[in-house]
Amino acid sequence: MKCPFCGNDDTKVIDTRNMSENNSIRRRRMCEKCSKRFTTFERMEETPLIVKKSNNTRESFSRNKLLKGIMISCNKRIVSMEQMEAIVDYVENFAFSKNGNEIESKEIGNIVMNKLKDIDEVAYVRFASVYRQFKDIDSFMSELALMLKERK
Ligand SMILES: [Zn+2]
Repeated sequence: MKCPFCGNDDTKVIDTRNMSENNSIRRRRMCEKCSKRFTTFERMEETPLIVKKSNNTRESFSRNKLLKGIMISCNKRIVSMEQMEAIVDYVENFAFSKNGNEIESKEIGNIVMNKLKDIDEVAYVRFASVYRQFKDIDSFMSELALMLKERK
């Protein structure tokens, strides 16, 4: 399992929890190089979570991609890694507990917006203002990064 922060391959599992209600395993990991902690969510069945985009194409859900988008929105704000990961956990839990294994990118965006609203107003505004014109998560993140750069 690669570290999402430094890309190092050696990560240690520090906690494993079975989420019986949605058939998944949550693992808390620590990178042995940079010591940062992160969470992985694995389904016991090999059914990947699919994201349906607004143009009706589908791609597999990437936890790290979403986390990165949230991290960009929370840049220089007082939001802990745990709080950001909790948002991603919530998205995954929500998707897995629904029938099927598909979630609309719109739904993901709405969940993240609602959660950020409670945590940090600035992060919420950043996320929401870019989200309104978002086509896919990649263009969304480059847009966010650009926005932060212009504000400096
Ligand atoms: Zn690392």
